[in-house]
Amino acid sequence: MAYQSTNPYNGKVLQTFESMDAAQLEARLHQASECFNNDWQGKSYAERATILARAATLMREQAQPLAELITLEMGKLIAQSLGEVALSAAILDYYAQHAERFLAPETLATARGEALVESCPIGVLFGVEPWNYPYYQIARFAAPNLMAGNVVMVKHASSVPQCALAFERLMQEAGAPAGAYTNLFISKEQVAQVIDDPRIRGVALTGSEAAGAVVAARAGQNLKKTTMELGGSDAFIVLEDADLDRAVKCAVSGRMGNSGQACTASKRFIVVEALADRFLEKFQDAMLNFAPGDPLDKQTTLAPLSSAEALDNLLGQVQRAVAGGARVVMGGARMDHAGAFMQPTILTDISASNPAYKEEFFGPVALFFRVADEAAAVALANDSPFGLGGSVFTQDIERGKRLARQIDTGMVFINAPASSSPELPFGGVKNSGYGRELSGAGIQEFVNKKLIRVA
Ligand code: NAP
Repeated sequence: MAYQSTNPYNGKVLQTFESMDAAQLEARLHQASECFNNDWQGKSYAERATILARAATLMREQAQPLAELITLEMGKLIAQSLGEVALSAAILDYYAQHAERFLAPETLATARGEALVESCPIGVLFGVEPWNYPYYQIARFAAPNLMAGNVVMVKHASSVPQCALAFERLMQEAGAPAGAYTNLFISKEQVAQVIDDPRIRGVALTGSEAAGAVVAARAGQNLKKTTMELGGSDAFIVLEDADLDRAVKCAVSGRMGNSGQACTASKRFIVVEALADRFLEKFQDAMLNFAPGDPLDKQTTLAPLSSAEALDNLLGQVQRAVAGGARVVMGGARMDHAGAFMQPTILTDISASNPAYKEEFFGPVALFFRVADEAAAVALANDSPFGLGGSVFTQDIERGKRLARQIDTGMVFINAPASSSPELPFGGVKNSGYGRELSGAGIQEFVNKKLIRVA
């Protein structure tokens, strides 16, 4: 399959790239393996950190053109694209500064002799990454693993090839040796070949459950470790003692950021009866304040979805939800505007038998549920195949923490929608995947915890 940039705002094809042939792929694998064996694993933390910090500086210097590429390829509002560039640079800096401490040798208390555990790099890693945050997703995978001494190869989503190349170029400009960071324009069949290749020692995927299941199964056949960052349908619980205005403001930003195309977007709004009507009214009012426009224009408030196909898929989900008994409170259709624009939408009356009840809506579609009390809110939040994030709104922080402990997900935010920061672990449970990225945890996934015992 070809790698192609298409601007979802106007449907214009910007650039097309051919997939690599077998010889090109073999040359890249060879180069990555040689780089690991003869160069990168032998570098000191300080040497690797210099390169990553330089990449962070270059990202900041080139923030505007890098951000424009995101907006052109997948439609993100330019202010949010700039935010993504800044966050990606922060991740590079964070691991440049902290990797050595995270991976410091650990001396074990032992009855006789000496025992220590060292964190050794394992080799060439392979990442399969999605389009929704074209730099942030790869920074999350590349920065900790490069600092750990591994080298990385990335198959990015086929809709963001210019961002994929821009990141690779950035690493080269920063001084990374050839093979330390490699972009691969490859087909799904070639993804399987790369996973099978004995030079690949670990595999990470961020994307859908379907892709995760295929890639994890292939890696499993090869006894290779994986991390999986998959979809989510995060609950946004509003208790009767919540600050209503804050909850509504966060509901809007949690659902509408990145045009709703975030794994940790707030997707299921679960509000206790006492506040339900007032919350819904204010939420609806606020969701009317979005107007479509060119995402490169700073004044635009509603961006298109990432592609015409993504819009068709979302509209199909809404139609199935309605056929299954859901009621459209607002929206529900494409915008009367050129480009892949979806109306901000709220659906209610979603029964447990409705397909929408267990699906992820990747766009500006909010599912609204009213519940009797706190216990019912937690039960509904947990009645999902996903377990990525979630939010609880209450003015009683201890109550919020108690609920957070009962919610079966990898992350819970109190009085805020989900967010990401280099120092905070990111990942899920159940069908949202396994393993963690970011923070100290993210650098431990692909290292060999080697015991060295002195008799
Ligand atoms: P996707 O279709 O799974 O694509 C993600 C990546 O996997 C792309 O590079 C894609 O390549 C590749 N891929 C897809 N099917 C594959 C297969 N059978 N074999 C090998 N590679 C395959 O996901 P998406 O729809 O673009 O992204 C949205 C999904 O990602 C949502 O479910 C979202 O929640 C999830 N996500 C999760 C996180 C997280 O951290 N948990 C973060 C962001 C997104 P092509 O582009 O060439 O198809």
